[in-house]
Amino acid sequence: MDFVTQDNITILKFKALDALPHIRHAVSTRGGGVSCLEGLESLNLGTHTADDIENVRENYRRFCRVAGFDAQRVVLGNQTHSVNVRYATEADAGKGVFCERDYTDVDALVTDCRNLPLVIHSADCVPVTFADIEGRAVGNAHCGWRGTYGGLAAITLQQLQSRFGVMPQDVLCTIGPCICMSCYEVSEDLYQSFCERFGKSDALLCDDGRFSIDLAAINRQILIESGVAPQNIFVSDICTSCSTHLLYSHRAQGPSRGIFASVIELF
Ligand SMILES: [Zn+2]
Repeated sequence: MDFVTQDNITILKFKALDALPHIRHAVSTRGGGVSCLEGLESLNLGTHTADDIENVRENYRRFCRVAGFDAQRVVLGNQTHSVNVRYATEADAGKGVFCERDYTDVDALVTDCRNLPLVIHSADCVPVTFADIEGRAVGNAHCGWRGTYGGLAAITLQQLQSRFGVMPQDVLCTIGPCICMSCYEVSEDLYQSFCERFGKSDALLCDDGRFSIDLAAINRQILIESGVAPQNIFVSDICTSCSTHLLYSHRAQGPSRGIFASVIELF
């Protein structure tokens, strides 16, 4: 990914998304914010942490200024590891950060509205963005192991097609920073469930009684099986757990970690 630093804030970007007209995107990192609590320092963008909401709002203002989004209009989901997708409309502008949400259990957002930044929070889970190459719609999904197992990436693609007529072959996807396979050791039960659901592959590792899952690779597989062209899928090589100087990681830091954001909008 490309690193862009301005005013002490570093954002991460995918070249492939930057090359598309009408699409703006960025992933936030840890530095340059106002949060001081241990584990949250300093650009925490999570609204359900021990952080003061005014700190979080200021962090959104700083991040959005550098990334080019209107902070007052960011739209959050209500992430509970569900497989629910919300069609975000103009009425949702600002919901989750600057005004109250009137929805629950939303782990993916899609929209055809302009200048409506869709935000997905993570700290190890997989943020997957969706951009129609023709610029008609965008989507953003939070795929932890539950969302991955439930096929949320495929469900989000179906919503883009049914609501906006965007075919999977016209979608460019990114798989943002998330926990890598060597950092993501899981139970044997979970490993077996994934083998049954997705078939044995290099994304599922059993090594000397230890079990690991490559969530990014499984999501890539889901996207390809749903009709996205392999050359239109871009995977970040940054692991959250290996890179806690740059990003937040639940596995590496524990529950008092902050939250970073993956954001995409049409403009
Ligand atoms: Zn790692």
